[in-house]
Amino acid sequence: MPETYPMAVIAAPRQIEYVQKKLSPLGDYEILIKIKAAAICGSDLHLYKGLHPSASLPAALGHEASGQVIEIGKSVTKHKIGDRVTIEPVIACGKCDYCSRGDYHLCKDISFQYRQGQGVFAPFFIVHEDRAFHLPKNISYEEGALVEPMSVALHAVKKSGIKLGQTSAVFGAGAIGILVSMLTRQTSGIGSIICDIHPYRLQKALDLGAQFAINSREQDPVNAILEATNGLGVDKSFEAVGLELTLSQSLQVLKHGANATLIGIFEQIENKIPIHLFVQREISLYGAQGYSWDFQDALKMLETNTMSLKPLITHILLLSELQQGFEILLSPNNKSIKVVVKIDD
Ligand SMILES: [Zn+2]
Ligand SMILES: [Zn+2]
Repeated sequence: MPETYPMAVIAAPRQIEYVQKKLSPLGDYEILIKIKAAAICGSDLHLYKGLHPSASLPAALGHEASGQVIEIGKSVTKHKIGDRVTIEPVIACGKCDYCSRGDYHLCKDISFQYRQGQGVFAPFFIVHEDRAFHLPKNISYEEGALVEPMSVALHAVKKSGIKLGQTSAVFGAGAIGILVSMLTRQTSGIGSIICDIHPYRLQKALDLGAQFAINSREQDPVNAILEATNGLGVDKSFEAVGLELTLSQSLQVLKHGANATLIGIFEQIENKIPIHLFVQREISLYGAQGYSWDFQDALKMLETNTMSLKPLITHILLLSELQQGFEILLSPNNKSIKVVVKIDD
């Protein structure tokens, strides 16, 4: 094993650099993973632009990854050398009230590996054995890197409480929005109405089971959704953009008594919303934070081929092309959903 290894960091806005990171010895319950594939997340883009609400530069980045276990701590029982795993990059204290009752996504000291200096765009990664899950045989490392965003979407869809026969609208056809759309269809049996400004992403969402796509540049999504639902609106809406406008729209398209779930990361902290609707229509707004016990469910769905992540992968690059991957995702008319970086030996 080398003493140090290169890890990508954002040195300044839109500037990736590689720093040499020390390979520290494993704790008793830790495992060393040789990263095989890592994906760029929307939240990495906020970081790349230097606009993440809770992180400042320089910063390690990347939290969606899969790989192979190459070394285990002396008390590890859940993994053995050679296991193929996906990483749950959250760090919870394990002791607070929330952690004690199993809601570790609500941990009062919640953090993520990259916020503590360990990013996934690197050959090695160390986690507690509880934060890695075995990849089913039918799932490639590239797909394995997307179990994290799938878990985010799964958590949000569960939180919304959507039921069989209910309608939904999704604002944002990025990876999370499309995953939410795929999952609401699985849950309710009805394809979602999806809104975005990128024709490529809207078409991808339709190909993956959305019922109806609205290009918000061409049509007012609130009117279009009300028209498509006989003036009633939808049972569930999801905000997966992170803008005041789409947040407001996600509330305006709700049926009376319905709810919206917020997943997007807002670069702007304070936002105006149509507050009168809450009492008038008895609507609710939920927040969905990360995941807890959702990786297991995502992996079951993938193992049984209930859902496939393959169609979301639009680009596979090398680690040396990481910066290019970010620029692809930020270019205005890009045809990308998920950029995955392959990390070879
Ligand atoms: Zn992510
Ligand atoms: Zn805790």
